[in-house]
Amino acid sequence: MLPCATADSCDREVPVPLRPTLYRHPHGITAIDAEYLYSGHAAAHVIEDSGRAAFVDVGTNASVPYLLAALEELGIDRTAVDYLLLTHVHLDHAGGAGTLMRELPNARALLHPRGAPHMIDPTRLIAGAKAVYGEEPFRRIYGELLPIAAERVYLVQDGERVRLGGRTLELIHTPGHAQHHYVIVDQAHRSIFAGDTFGISYRALDTERGPFIVPTTTPTQFDPGQHLASIDRMLAYEPESMYLMHFSRVTGVPRLAALLKEQITELARIARTHADDRDPANGIRADMLALWLKLARREGCRLADADIGRALAGDLTLNTQGLISWLERERNPRG
Ligand SMILES: [Zn+2]
Repeated sequence: MLPCATADSCDREVPVPLRPTLYRHPHGITAIDAEYLYSGHAAAHVIEDSGRAAFVDVGTNASVPYLLAALEELGIDRTAVDYLLLTHVHLDHAGGAGTLMRELPNARALLHPRGAPHMIDPTRLIAGAKAVYGEEPFRRIYGELLPIAAERVYLVQDGERVRLGGRTLELIHTPGHAQHHYVIVDQAHRSIFAGDTFGISYRALDTERGPFIVPTTTPTQFDPGQHLASIDRMLAYEPESMYLMHFSRVTGVPRLAALLKEQITELARIARTHADDRDPANGIRADMLALWLKLARREGCRLADADIGRALAGDLTLNTQGLISWLERERNPRG
């Protein structure tokens, strides 16, 4: 293939894979495996209503061909997509948005006012991600982040409502995992698209009691107090279903909320306990893993410790980094 002269001409050559993995949920909601890192790790969602459609989070550049193939499979024309509802600008959620926007002529990208500038000019986002992941892994995993034209970006105010086909979606700011996070409340269907504000729940850790769930405290804006308040704010809507990026629909929300809140409090305590260690990461990591193994057992998980550890290994590393970053901000709030 000839090299592309411009980014735009590259976009038109996005190959469409044969089969995206889709999970059909009630009320016109479909999860698409974004194939981020590995299958079953990250889910973008499509909401369809009365001939119109929206994506909730989109994965990375590598996810875009799967999302476009999913539209084809669902019989949704690219011109019918009104919104990219980007819950926050972490790259596993929004890294592919610039590329995808070029394929969806009528879509607007809805972003928290704190996140929007970073999608219009991703320079700082790229630098921040390289600091977490390293230069080479960043390039391999995320590729080239394309900006979104400012006129196609819409700033989401707290509590505002948007129409999608025949339904109304309420968008509320939910800091705690990230300052630039909002969630999408579909009150008529008692559903919330929670991004990362309602944790991570891999289907591999499901038990007869239901899903297992852990909070994500990734760098660099985790704030336990705000996070607990945001969970309470979501609970006030009494949702039946939470749609998570990692991994899609969970029900039994009160039980999961209690599990999450218990862990957020405990992880903050663990971080403080190790704040003055010579190597805080070691102690935080060990205590977090011990907590997760204990809770997974309590919730009926029968997998071997090593298998539970493997399922949560990436989150253990990122959560540890995020807790250390929180400790540093607590110590030096202006830093
Ligand atoms: Zn995130």
